[in-house]
Amino acid sequence: MNELKMIEELSNAFGPAGFEDEAQLVARRYMPATAQMEEDSLRDLYVRRRENTGGRPVVQLDAHLDEVGFMVQAIRPDGALKFIPLGTIVASNIPAHKVKVRAKDGTLVSGITTAKPPHFMSDAEKNRMPAVEEMAIDVGASSLEEARDSYGIRVAAPAAPDVRFEYDEKHDIMIGKAFDNRLGCAAIASVLEQLDGEALSVDVVGALATQEELGCRSAAVTARTVKPQIAIVFEGCPADDTVVEKWLSQTAVHKGPMLRHIDARMLTNPRFQRWALDLAEELGIPVQEAVRTGGATNGAPIHLSNEGVPCIVIGFPVRYIHSHYGIASLEDFKNGVRLAVEILRRLDEKTIRSF
Ligand SMILES: [Zn+2]
Repeated sequence: MNELKMIEELSNAFGPAGFEDEAQLVARRYMPATAQMEEDSLRDLYVRRRENTGGRPVVQLDAHLDEVGFMVQAIRPDGALKFIPLGTIVASNIPAHKVKVRAKDGTLVSGITTAKPPHFMSDAEKNRMPAVEEMAIDVGASSLEEARDSYGIRVAAPAAPDVRFEYDEKHDIMIGKAFDNRLGCAAIASVLEQLDGEALSVDVVGALATQEELGCRSAAVTARTVKPQIAIVFEGCPADDTVVEKWLSQTAVHKGPMLRHIDARMLTNPRFQRWALDLAEELGIPVQEAVRTGGATNGAPIHLSNEGVPCIVIGFPVRYIHSHYGIASLEDFKNGVRLAVEILRRLDEKTIRSF
C-alpha cells in the first residue's frame, strides 16, 4: 500500500462536517479488498475484517471523516456568499484563502474568503479583527441571481478549504488540509491492511465517523452499532511545539504519536493507557504523552457507550489544526499505525478484562 498516496488523496478530498461523501469514497478504496463494508444513514462507514468470527471481544478503531468547513447561510445581493462555520475555526484564520463550494449539481466551485483591501478600510477597521458575520465567500458572481442560476449555488451549500497536499521527503514534512482527521482514516486502512489475513484473538471493526467537528456526534451511533469491548481512537491532534515552551510541549511533530491521558471530555482508561505505553517502550516505538484541559475526541461518546468502553487516543501531531493548512510527519503516522497493529496482535479477552 502506498500510504503517502492514500494520505494525499484523503487530505485533498472535500468533506466538511455532514458532507463527507467524497472523503468516504476515497477511504473505501484503500480498505483491504477482503474487508466487509457498510454504512448507516449518517454515512458512517463500518469496515469489518474478514477474519472476524462474531464470538470474540470487539475492538473498535475510530477516526472521523469530516473536516472543519463552512455552510452558505444566504446569498448577498452582490453575489457573495454569507456563511457559517461547520466546526470550530478562529475568525482571524478565515479570510483570504481559497475554498471550494459544492454547487447544486455536485461540482466544486472555486472561491475566496473575502478580505477587504486596505484601501477601503477605515483606521478603526484596520485595527480590529473582522467578525465571521461580516465575512463572505466570493466565487466571482456579481449578483444573487448569477450565484444561484449560473454558478448553481444554493442556501446550505457546503464549503471547505481548497488546499493541495505536498510532501517534503528530505524533512519528512507533509503540508495539507484536513489532517484532522484524514490521518486517522488512513491509519485505520493501514492497520487493517497490515493485519489482513492474520489471526487475532479479537474481532476488529473500523468505524469512520461523520460530524465529529460538530461535537463528536456520529461516534455515539457507531459505538451503539459496533458495541465494542475496547476502542482505539485515531486523531489528528494539535501540535504544541510552536506554541508552548519546550518543557511543556507534549505533542511535537517528529516525536511520535501522542497518547492523551485526559482532555475536556474523557479521562483515558489508565490501565489500558499504561499497557499501551509500556508496549510502546518495550518495542522502541516513540510516543508522547499529553495531559490536556481542553479538546475532545470521539473517545468522549465511545468510552461512555454500552457498559463503558476502555479507550485510548493515538494522536498524530498536526501544527495549525482547525485552520486551512496543517503540518505533520509521515514517520509519526507510521509509528502510530505500528503501535496500533502491535496492540491488536496482543489484545485478548483476559487482557481486556484486566482494564
Ligand atoms: Zn479531529
